[in-house]
Amino acid sequence: MARSLLITRISELVTNALRDSDAIAAISPDNSAAAGGPGGFATLSNAALVIEGDRVAWTGPASRAPAADAVVDAGGRTVLPGFVDSHAHLVFAGERGAEFAARMAGSPYAAGGIRSTVAATRAAPDGVLRGGLRRLAAEMLGQGTTTFECKSGYGLTVRDEARSVALAAEVTPEVTYLGAHVVPAEMSAADYVSLVCGEMLDACAQHSRWVDVFCERGAFSADEARAVLSAGISRGLRPRVHANQLGYGPGVSVAVEMGAASADHCTFVSDADVDALASSGTVATLLPGAEFGTRQPYPDARRLLSAGVTVALATDCNPGSSYTSSMPFCIALAVRDMRMTTSEAVWSATAGGAAALRRSDVGWLGPGARADLIVLDAPSHAYLAYRPGVPLIQAVYQSGRRASLALE
Ligand SMILES: [Zn+2]
Repeated sequence: MARSLLITRISELVTNALRDSDAIAAISPDNSAAAGGPGGFATLSNAALVIEGDRVAWTGPASRAPAADAVVDAGGRTVLPGFVDSHAHLVFAGERGAEFAARMAGSPYAAGGIRSTVAATRAAPDGVLRGGLRRLAAEMLGQGTTTFECKSGYGLTVRDEARSVALAAEVTPEVTYLGAHVVPAEMSAADYVSLVCGEMLDACAQHSRWVDVFCERGAFSADEARAVLSAGISRGLRPRVHANQLGYGPGVSVAVEMGAASADHCTFVSDADVDALASSGTVATLLPGAEFGTRQPYPDARRLLSAGVTVALATDCNPGSSYTSSMPFCIALAVRDMRMTTSEAVWSATAGGAAALRRSDVGWLGPGARADLIVLDAPSHAYLAYRPGVPLIQAVYQSGRRASLALE
């Protein structure tokens, strides 16, 4: 038997689990077996949770908690699932602080800013890229992120994309091949798309779970995006799309058409885009750090939620448009500036991110879920937005083990 750990005296336990009645109806119509699973936003008050090995074994009222090998007194704090950051660009060298400062002083954002990071990334030894990646991963963990996705896309040569996905695979299973981030200056778009769909894909597929494309004016067209995604799918990768960040366009419709797990950004979407998302399994992943960092209008989260679209929140952590690794910061932006409720924002940053990565083991806390959780030094989840910028994360458990939060 794995050792068990009881965490008790939890003021609010965010479970995002199916309620018993829902679970019974969903799984056992004859009520013969109760079973949990990921569901909508849900909480338990005065709660406790038992971990066995790397899994959650039990949740319920503290007064009915079973005995365990060890006990942690949460002291009236909140416990919630570890954040699932489903969109991040962490393999790069250099930084663009001066570009940010200039933009805040009035210069517009252009997709071409990516190229300065490409030059620095190509020139960097593996050790520099690995060091930066591990520093950001540690930063994320310290802010409660226990699952994250990581994209390539600053190499744009076969060698540099291949080493980017290989390095990303050292720190997460959710690796995304984003050769189609931007066309490098030295190539034509047609030649580059051929490379991305051919030799570069061959070199990257073994380390990648996902294929992504920046479908936007100035980046890749709808047809080019289809070609890139189809090539990836044919190699067993699953599609996701950078869509409709800088203006209206075909990104969302291509994402839905190709069965993408997620259309990311969704800042400028038409009614048809909203309808397409609502009637598909494609999650809309909103990245408010990018709008913050580029001073663009935020996506209309209320419109998407009202239409029944599944919404995720992620950081888009990258050195150009959104150099934050903080899910609490994104939650605060979503609540304050995108008019999401605190519960919607926390769900989108946990279960929503899991949906965007097609993961059913994370983003919720109930029997069978992976024991990834945050102990928040606050009486409720609302404090993530109510006390923005304050380090409220007291402890993080990843696969049942308390993580060391010291930065390397
Ligand atoms: Zn991105």
